[in-house]
Amino acid sequence: MQKLQMVDLRRQYLKIKPQIDDAIQSVIDSTMFIGGSEVAKLSEELAAYIGVKHAIPCANGTDALQIALMALGLKPGDEVITPSFTYIATVEVVALLGLKPVFVDVTTDSFTMDPECVRKAITPNTKAIIPVHLYGQSADMEALLAISEEYNIPLIEDNAQAIGGNYTFSDGKTVKTGSMGRISCTSFFPSKNLGCYGDGGALFTNDDALAEQIKMIANHGQKVRYYHEMVGCNSRLDAIQAAILRIKLPLLDGYCDARRMAADYYDNAFKNNPKITTPFRAPYARHVFHQYTLKLTGVDRDEVPKQLAARDIPSMIYYPVPCHKQNMLKAYGTANDNLPVTDRLQDCVISLPIHTELTEEELSYITKNFLEIIG
Ligand SMILES: *Cc1c(COP(=O)(O)O)cnc(C)c1O
Repeated sequence: MQKLQMVDLRRQYLKIKPQIDDAIQSVIDSTMFIGGSEVAKLSEELAAYIGVKHAIPCANGTDALQIALMALGLKPGDEVITPSFTYIATVEVVALLGLKPVFVDVTTDSFTMDPECVRKAITPNTKAIIPVHLYGQSADMEALLAISEEYNIPLIEDNAQAIGGNYTFSDGKTVKTGSMGRISCTSFFPSKNLGCYGDGGALFTNDDALAEQIKMIANHGQKVRYYHEMVGCNSRLDAIQAAILRIKLPLLDGYCDARRMAADYYDNAFKNNPKITTPFRAPYARHVFHQYTLKLTGVDRDEVPKQLAARDIPSMIYYPVPCHKQNMLKAYGTANDNLPVTDRLQDCVISLPIHTELTEEELSYITKNFLEIIG
C-alpha cells in the first residue's frame, strides 16, 4: 500500500497525464499565457456545466468572494451574514473591504447556515448573505432564498467546496450548487473537487450587468484598456490553469462519484459505532464530499489524529478555531458571539482522507484502524 494522503493528486494526475501534458505544452507553444482561447472556452464550459449565463474565471476563490462583494457595491460598515464555521477566506474578504461580518450558527447535522439564525441576524444594514456549502453539501438554499427574497438581500454562494453538487427544491427541481445565488464563487485550489495545478477561481451569475461589473473589477476597473472607471484588482486565471481545468471539468462528475463511493464505504463501516456520527446526507442535496467529516462523542478527539498518525493515517480538523474566535477579527469583538453549535463542533469534528483515488484496500485499512482507536 502506498503512503496514505488526505488528497492524492499524483495518482489522479497519472491517469490523465498525456492529456494534461499536451494541454500545458500547447499553451506554452502558443505563448498566450494570460487570457486567450483556453480561458474563453473554459468560461463557456463552466457556465454550461453549472447552468448559469456567465462564468468569470479569476485568480483564486478568495478573490472571487472579494470581487462578488465589490460587484454588489457594498460600502464600509455594511453587514454581511456568514457562518463562523467555515474556512477563513469567506470572512476575511468581508473584513478586508471594511464590511462587518455578522456570524450565524450552523445546524448540528448539516454543518451549514441555519436559516432561522439568518432571519434573526438581519438588520437594516444587512447587505449580503454568504451561505457556504461546507464539506461538499449544499446549504438549505430554498429557505435561504426565501429570506433573501423577503428582505431583498442578495445571496452569494460560497461554492468552493461543493462544485459538482446538486440542490433539489421541494417542487422536485434539481439544480447545481453555484447556480442559485445572485453571484456564486468557487475555487480551483488543487485539492478542491475541481482543482487546477496552482491557484484559480471563478464567479458565476445569471445577471448580465453584474457579469460586466465583475469582469471590470477583476481587470483593474477597466472595460476599455487604460480607461479605469473604478478601483478594481488584478485577478486572472492563467491560461495553463484554464487548459488543465478544461481537461478535468468533463471528469468532475466521475470524481464526485468516486468521493461519494469512498464516503459510502466509511458510512457503512462506522454506522454501528455509537461514538461516531457519520455525515448527514440532507434530503435536498447531493453531497460531493470535499471532506468526509465525522462527529465524535465520548472520545478524546484531540488524541485521535495522533493515534491515526502513528498508524500512518492522515486526518485533519476542519477547522480547529471558528472564524468568530480568530485573532484576525478581534476588532469586531465577535469572540463571545452566541454560536453554541459552532463552538461544540469545533471540539468534536474530525476529517478522514477522501479523494478520487482511494482503493478498497486503503479504505479497509483506514476504517479498521479508526474503529480500533475509537474503541
Ligand atoms: C478554499 C476555500 C475558499 C478560498 O479559495 P482559494 O482558492 O484558496 O482562495 C473560500 N471558501 C471556502 C469555503 C473554501 O474552502
